[in-house]
Amino acid sequence: MPDKTGAGGALAFTPVIGIEIHIQLKTKSKVFCSCSADYTNDEPNSHICPVCMGLPGSMPVLNKTVVQQGMLAGMALNCTVQPTTYFFRKSYYYPDLPKGYQITQSDLPIAANGWLDIKDDAGNPKRIRINRLHLEEDVGKLHHSAADGRLEGAESSWVDYNRSGLPLAEIVSEPDVSSAYEAVEYVTMLRRRVRYVGASDVDLEKGMMRFDANVSVKCSDGRWGRRVEVKNMNSFRALERAIEYEIKRQSKILADGGEVLQETRHWNDVKGTTTASRVKEFYRKFIVEPDLPPLVVLPQWVEEVRATLPEMPNEKALRYVREMGLSEIDAAVLTDSIDVARYFEACVAAGANPLRAGNWVRTEVLRAVNDRQIGVKDLAVKPDALAELIRRIDDGRLSTTGAKNVFEVMLEGSSLSLDEAVRKSGAVEGGVGADALENLVRATFAANPDVIEEIRSGKDTKGKKIKFLQGLVMRETKGQARPDEVVAAIETLLKSE
Ligand SMILES: [Zn+2]
Repeated sequence: MPDKTGAGGALAFTPVIGIEIHIQLKTKSKVFCSCSADYTNDEPNSHICPVCMGLPGSMPVLNKTVVQQGMLAGMALNCTVQPTTYFFRKSYYYPDLPKGYQITQSDLPIAANGWLDIKDDAGNPKRIRINRLHLEEDVGKLHHSAADGRLEGAESSWVDYNRSGLPLAEIVSEPDVSSAYEAVEYVTMLRRRVRYVGASDVDLEKGMMRFDANVSVKCSDGRWGRRVEVKNMNSFRALERAIEYEIKRQSKILADGGEVLQETRHWNDVKGTTTASRVKEFYRKFIVEPDLPPLVVLPQWVEEVRATLPEMPNEKALRYVREMGLSEIDAAVLTDSIDVARYFEACVAAGANPLRAGNWVRTEVLRAVNDRQIGVKDLAVKPDALAELIRRIDDGRLSTTGAKNVFEVMLEGSSLSLDEAVRKSGAVEGGVGADALENLVRATFAANPDVIEEIRSGKDTKGKKIKFLQGLVMRETKGQARPDEVVAAIETLLKSE
């Protein structure tokens, strides 16, 4: 049995991990009222109403878009949409929950029995089964006065109900994950696919994706540790560190002959440790929500939603490799975001060579997008303009360096035509003239007689010296010359003198 725990010793420990993910579904309004779901940077408690504050007499009305987004997310995770589901009241008392209960589908979910295929630590394929995706409402957010923002040590606390009633999907995996690495693989793929279908923006910095992990370890001598629920991870890195920490902690307890307690622990990202939750687990009572009827999803609606699904990233990447000859790495980068994939495909559709277009998108385009902190849709250089630029490289009118200069100019002003951008960039179409190139090569020869001598005496068997000369000439032309023409000019002159 492999020891993935780092605890060492004669005993081996196998981690058994299930992951629960909350994602905020993309909607304009909250799940049971018409309060706006977009509250970023707004005053606390400025997006609230009697429904999401749970005032007496208020009635929840289910937002249809939430159901649709839940179906889309479920389909992205290979789940089956369930024809009939119910909402429950999960009762517990905490200040972030104004009603005293949370409305949730719990284990009668909108979608169930899915999976994602990931790679394990050794790079082998592995299937992580998904038990269910259920809809529920988010709770408010507590702010504590303690310097580290935690409840412990805080003199006072405030609560902001802007988040109360936002639509969430909770995605519960089976305990198929065996390492922190697999956990990150799983959540990375899940995030990409959910974003592909547009069900959520899954912006981690805005708290739109949050993780809990159920971690236990099995010892090679047959002993099992009990299941520990680790909460409060808000980034991939935190999830990875929390799981690693918890596996080591539990393995050490078992290695020392101790017993792992079943408990809820909180991840402290600053300290890099988990601590037992001081808050006693509430008695959670479930009753069917009497104010909401059963949710019946007709097959026709399911099919309408299914028809809107885009080609998913894995299938896209495989197609790029198969049909366009891209490398697997390039295909993976280009399909990571659906907007980038669409940009690339539009570029190819506009006539660009797929390999060159792929290279340009994954380097120049993504760099420009990252530098500017914008979406690829907002880039000033549109796919058809990039396709035309690439065509000019292919037919020899522009060198690669010249084209990059043109691209830089175009980034600054979308109103420029390609010809205007070429003029403004100073790039010379048609490269460097043959006479000018020959003169440059002659000058380079004259300045490097020892190198020419070495080549002529046959010592440059690997062509390194020719490459060296080519580099010198390219630099003189500021990259405007075409590399193959430079080599041809060097070889011609070598033969003629
Ligand atoms: Zn409201």
